[in-house]
Amino acid sequence: MKVIFLDIDGVMITGTHLKPSHAYNGYEFAPVAVENLKEIIEQTGAAIVVSSTWRTGGFAFLQNMFHSNGIAKGLVGQTPVIHYASRGQEIQQYIEESKWDPTLKVDRFIILDDNDDMGHLRSYLVRTHWRTGLDEEAKEQAIQMLLGKKE
Ligand SMILES: [Mg+2]
Repeated sequence: MKVIFLDIDGVMITGTHLKPSHAYNGYEFAPVAVENLKEIIEQTGAAIVVSSTWRTGGFAFLQNMFHSNGIAKGLVGQTPVIHYASRGQEIQQYIEESKWDPTLKVDRFIILDDNDDMGHLRSYLVRTHWRTGLDEEAKEQAIQMLLGKKE
């Protein structure tokens, strides 16, 4: 499957939209980021695997977080937490473990993040700015990469 390794702070929660959520202890996703993420999913069929530190709240917490922000489908998992490892190493570990499950096997992926600690996976990064998050430009780049039109 195609996968988006998704960070949340600086991608879905942005500096220009800091509104506390009523559904969980944190901020709402920026509506623009939600629309752009939905469009990426619609155009590419990619699934979401959360790489953000918010994943330490557990998968049920993430499901509630996504549902309450209007993202009802597409969330399939989260990367493992490996102490003293970079986010890139955690993503690599997820990809390796998914090889054993035909329903989760990662064939193509991108990383959406406002940081760049991706190590050898850096060429898969679509980097956002924390203020604006998943904007139009990042959305276009993500779609092109997931459809294989640009590496
Ligand atoms: Mg971030």
